[in-house]
Amino acid sequence: MAVGCNRTGGAVFFKIRLAAGESENTLVGMSNTLSPVAYDAKIEGNVIFTQVDAAINWMRSNSLWPMPMGLACCAIELMAASSSRFDISRFGAEVMRFSPRQADVMIVAGTVTYKMALAVKRIWDQMPEPKWCIAMGACASSGGMYRSYAVLQGIDHLIPVDVYISGCPPRPEALLDGLMRLQKKIMGENAVQDQKRELLESI
Ligand code: SF4
Repeated sequence: MAVGCNRTGGAVFFKIRLAAGESENTLVGMSNTLSPVAYDAKIEGNVIFTQVDAAINWMRSNSLWPMPMGLACCAIELMAASSSRFDISRFGAEVMRFSPRQADVMIVAGTVTYKMALAVKRIWDQMPEPKWCIAMGACASSGGMYRSYAVLQGIDHLIPVDVYISGCPPRPEALLDGLMRLQKKIMGENAVQDQKRELLESI
Protein backbone atom coordinates (compact mmCIF):
# COMPACT_ATOMS: atom_id res chain seq x y z
CA MET A 1 0.00 0.00 0.00
CA ALA A 2 1.47 3.34 -0.99
CA VAL A 3 0.42 6.61 0.64
CA GLY A 4 0.77 9.99 -1.03
CA CYS A 5 0.15 13.37 0.58
CA ASN A 6 -1.04 16.57 -1.06
CA ARG A 7 -1.79 19.96 0.48
CA THR A 8 -4.46 22.12 -1.06
CA GLY A 9 -5.29 25.31 0.81
CA GLY A 10 -5.75 24.38 4.47
CA ALA A 11 -6.66 20.76 3.77
CA VAL A 12 -4.41 17.75 3.58
CA PHE A 13 -5.30 14.93 1.22
CA PHE A 14 -3.82 11.45 1.41
CA LYS A 15 -3.89 9.32 -1.67
CA ILE A 16 -3.76 5.56 -1.21
CA ARG A 17 -2.62 3.26 -3.98
CA LEU A 18 -3.41 -0.38 -3.28
CA ALA A 19 -0.75 -2.98 -4.05
CA ALA A 20 -1.54 -6.32 -5.66
CA GLY A 21 -3.30 -8.58 -3.20
CA GLU A 22 -4.55 -5.74 -0.95
CA SER A 23 -8.23 -5.08 -0.84
CA GLU A 24 -10.27 -2.06 0.12
CA ASN A 25 -11.06 -3.89 3.35
CA THR A 26 -7.49 -3.04 4.42
CA LEU A 27 -8.42 0.62 4.37
CA VAL A 28 -11.84 0.11 5.92
CA GLY A 29 -10.17 -1.84 8.74
CA MET A 30 -7.71 0.98 9.23
CA SER A 31 -10.45 3.57 9.36
CA ASN A 32 -12.24 1.54 12.03
CA THR A 33 -9.22 1.46 14.34
CA LEU A 34 -8.23 5.08 13.80
CA SER A 35 -11.37 7.01 14.46
CA PRO A 36 -10.20 10.36 12.98
CA VAL A 37 -9.94 8.78 9.52
CA ALA A 38 -12.80 8.91 7.05
CA TYR A 39 -12.82 6.85 3.89
CA ASP A 40 -15.13 6.86 0.92
CA ALA A 41 -14.58 3.93 -1.43
CA LYS A 42 -16.69 5.54 -4.14
CA ILE A 43 -14.22 8.34 -4.78
CA GLU A 44 -12.06 7.46 -7.72
CA GLY A 45 -8.39 7.21 -6.74
CA ASN A 46 -9.12 6.35 -3.10
CA VAL A 47 -8.93 9.58 -1.12
CA ILE A 48 -8.77 9.77 2.66
CA PHE A 49 -9.68 12.86 4.67
CA THR A 50 -8.12 12.98 8.09
CA GLN A 51 -6.60 15.25 10.72
CA VAL A 52 -2.94 16.22 10.50
CA ASP A 53 -2.36 14.83 14.01
CA ALA A 54 -3.81 11.45 13.06
CA ALA A 55 -1.72 11.22 9.90
CA ILE A 56 1.52 12.26 11.63
CA ASN A 57 0.91 9.87 14.53
CA TRP A 58 0.12 7.05 12.11
CA MET A 59 3.38 7.58 10.27
CA ARG A 60 5.43 7.98 13.43
CA SER A 61 3.99 4.95 15.18
CA ASN A 62 4.67 2.70 12.18
CA SER A 63 8.25 3.81 11.59
CA LEU A 64 9.85 3.70 15.03
CA TRP A 65 13.59 3.38 14.58
CA PRO A 66 15.13 1.92 17.73
CA MET A 67 18.34 3.00 19.39
CA PRO A 68 19.36 -0.35 20.90
CA MET A 69 20.89 0.36 24.30
CA GLY A 70 21.94 -3.21 25.07
CA LEU A 71 23.69 -3.22 28.42
CA ALA A 72 23.37 -6.81 29.64
CA CYS A 73 21.55 -10.11 29.09
CA CYS A 74 18.22 -8.52 28.04
CA ALA A 75 20.02 -7.32 24.92
CA ILE A 76 20.12 -10.91 23.64
CA GLU A 77 16.30 -10.96 23.68
CA LEU A 78 16.29 -7.58 21.95
CA MET A 79 18.49 -9.02 19.19
CA ALA A 80 16.25 -12.06 18.92
CA ALA A 81 13.24 -9.79 18.35
CA SER A 82 14.70 -8.71 15.02
CA SER A 83 15.24 -12.27 13.83
CA SER A 84 12.94 -13.83 11.25
CA ARG A 85 11.15 -15.87 13.92
CA PHE A 86 9.76 -12.80 15.68
CA ASP A 87 10.12 -10.30 12.83
CA ILE A 88 10.02 -6.87 14.44
CA SER A 89 9.83 -5.41 10.92
CA ARG A 90 6.09 -6.19 10.94
CA PHE A 91 5.83 -3.07 13.10
CA GLY A 92 8.20 -0.92 11.04
CA ALA A 93 10.78 -1.01 13.83
CA GLU A 94 13.46 -3.19 12.29
CA VAL A 95 15.76 -0.31 11.42
CA MET A 96 18.10 -0.50 14.41
CA ARG A 97 20.18 2.65 14.43
CA PHE A 98 23.49 2.96 16.22
CA SER A 99 23.54 6.67 15.68
CA PRO A 100 21.32 8.74 17.98
CA ARG A 101 20.54 11.29 15.29
CA GLN A 102 18.68 8.63 13.27
CA ALA A 103 16.76 6.96 16.11
CA ASP A 104 13.51 7.89 17.80
CA VAL A 105 12.93 5.14 20.35
CA MET A 106 15.60 4.13 22.84
CA ILE A 107 15.26 0.55 24.06
CA VAL A 108 17.20 0.25 27.31
CA ALA A 109 17.86 -3.47 27.66
CA GLY A 110 19.96 -4.48 30.61
CA THR A 111 21.49 -3.41 33.89
CA VAL A 112 22.27 0.30 34.05
CA THR A 113 25.38 0.71 36.15
CA TYR A 114 26.37 4.16 37.33
CA LYS A 115 29.41 3.84 35.10
CA MET A 116 27.16 3.54 32.02
CA ALA A 117 24.28 5.72 33.16
CA LEU A 118 25.68 9.07 32.04
CA ALA A 119 26.64 7.61 28.65
CA VAL A 120 23.01 6.47 28.22
CA LYS A 121 21.82 9.95 29.19
CA ARG A 122 24.21 11.60 26.75
CA ILE A 123 23.00 9.44 23.87
CA TRP A 124 19.38 10.15 24.86
CA ASP A 125 20.10 13.88 24.80
CA GLN A 126 21.60 13.53 21.32
CA MET A 127 18.44 11.93 19.93
CA PRO A 128 16.20 14.48 18.19
CA GLU A 129 12.60 15.08 19.21
CA PRO A 130 10.14 13.43 19.11
CA LYS A 131 11.62 10.48 20.97
CA TRP A 132 10.40 7.74 23.24
CA CYS A 133 11.93 5.25 25.64
CA ILE A 134 11.20 1.62 26.42
CA ALA A 135 12.68 0.13 29.61
CA MET A 136 13.12 -3.53 28.76
CA GLY A 137 13.34 -5.92 31.67
CA ALA A 138 13.56 -5.73 35.44
CA CYS A 139 17.03 -4.17 35.54
CA ALA A 140 16.25 -1.26 33.23
CA SER A 141 12.87 -0.70 34.93
CA SER A 142 13.93 -0.88 38.58
CA GLY A 143 17.47 -2.17 39.00
CA GLY A 144 16.12 -5.73 39.15
CA MET A 145 17.94 -8.02 41.53
CA TYR A 146 20.88 -5.65 41.76
CA ARG A 147 20.09 -3.65 44.85
CA SER A 148 23.69 -2.52 44.92
CA TYR A 149 25.78 0.62 45.18
CA ALA A 150 26.91 0.18 41.56
CA VAL A 151 23.52 -0.02 39.84
CA LEU A 152 21.02 2.71 38.99
CA GLN A 153 17.62 1.66 40.33
CA GLY A 154 15.75 2.22 37.08
CA ILE A 155 16.61 4.26 33.99
CA ASP A 156 13.63 6.52 34.75
CA HIS A 157 15.86 8.23 37.31
CA LEU A 158 17.63 9.77 34.33
CA ILE A 159 15.31 9.81 31.33
CA PRO A 160 11.52 9.67 30.90
CA VAL A 161 10.24 6.16 30.20
CA ASP A 162 7.11 5.58 28.10
CA VAL A 163 6.75 1.81 28.40
CA TYR A 164 8.09 -0.62 31.02
CA ILE A 165 8.46 -4.29 30.16
CA SER A 166 8.59 -6.75 33.04
CA GLY A 167 10.62 -9.96 33.08
CA CYS A 168 14.12 -11.22 33.68
CA PRO A 169 14.60 -11.40 30.80
CA PRO A 170 11.40 -10.57 28.90
CA ARG A 171 10.92 -12.70 25.82
CA PRO A 172 10.95 -11.06 22.38
CA GLU A 173 7.14 -11.31 22.30
CA ALA A 174 7.05 -9.09 25.39
CA LEU A 175 9.15 -6.50 23.57
CA LEU A 176 6.75 -6.63 20.63
CA ASP A 177 3.87 -6.15 23.05
CA GLY A 178 5.68 -3.14 24.53
CA LEU A 179 6.23 -1.78 21.05
CA MET A 180 2.54 -2.07 20.24
CA ARG A 181 1.66 -0.28 23.49
CA LEU A 182 4.04 2.51 22.52
CA GLN A 183 2.39 2.71 19.10
CA LYS A 184 -0.97 3.04 20.84
CA LYS A 185 0.39 5.78 23.07
CA ILE A 186 1.80 7.70 20.10
CA MET A 187 -1.57 7.47 18.31
CA GLY A 188 -3.09 9.40 21.23
CA GLU A 189 -0.50 12.18 21.21
CA ASN A 190 -1.15 15.72 20.15
CA ALA A 191 1.56 15.66 17.49
CA VAL A 192 1.59 19.23 16.24
CA GLN A 193 0.72 21.11 19.43
CA ASP A 194 3.08 19.14 21.69
CA GLN A 195 5.92 19.43 19.22
CA LYS A 196 5.58 23.11 18.53
CA ARG A 197 4.25 24.28 21.89
CA GLU A 198 6.84 27.04 22.36
CA LEU A 199 6.33 28.25 18.80
CA LEU A 200 2.54 28.28 19.13
CA GLU A 201 2.69 30.09 22.47
CA SER A 202 4.95 32.75 21.00
CA ILE A 203 2.49 33.54 18.20
S1 SF4 B 1 16.46 -8.17 33.81
FE1 SF4 B 1 17.47 -10.17 34.06
S2 SF4 B 1 17.99 -10.77 31.96
FE2 SF4 B 1 17.59 -8.56 31.91
S3 SF4 B 1 19.58 -7.59 32.20
FE3 SF4 B 1 18.65 -7.82 34.23
S4 SF4 B 1 19.46 -9.76 35.01
FE4 SF4 B 1 19.81 -9.76 32.80
